[in-house]
Amino acid sequence: MRAGDRVVINANLGCGECDACQSGRDNLCQTWHLLGETVRGMYCEYISLPVRQLCKIPDGFDYHQSPRRLWSTRPPGIQ
Ligand SMILES: [Zn+2]
Repeated sequence: MRAGDRVVINANLGCGECDACQSGRDNLCQTWHLLGETVRGMYCEYISLPVRQLCKIPDGFDYHQSPRRLWSTRPPGIQ
């Protein structure tokens, strides 16, 4: 991933290290937060997030397609 890439974010903020996070169930993390709900940040112009929270939008992928579809097609091991 590089600066300038189009991305969507996963607003579930887990630690990225526990069993729940490692298995893709970051919403069950003991330190879970939801961006914009339990921590500030959804309406800001810029935000700093761990790269694991980002999913690159492939070239040719229309913004109007469902973000859920994008997350469901990410490569194994990418959460
Ligand atoms: Zn965790």
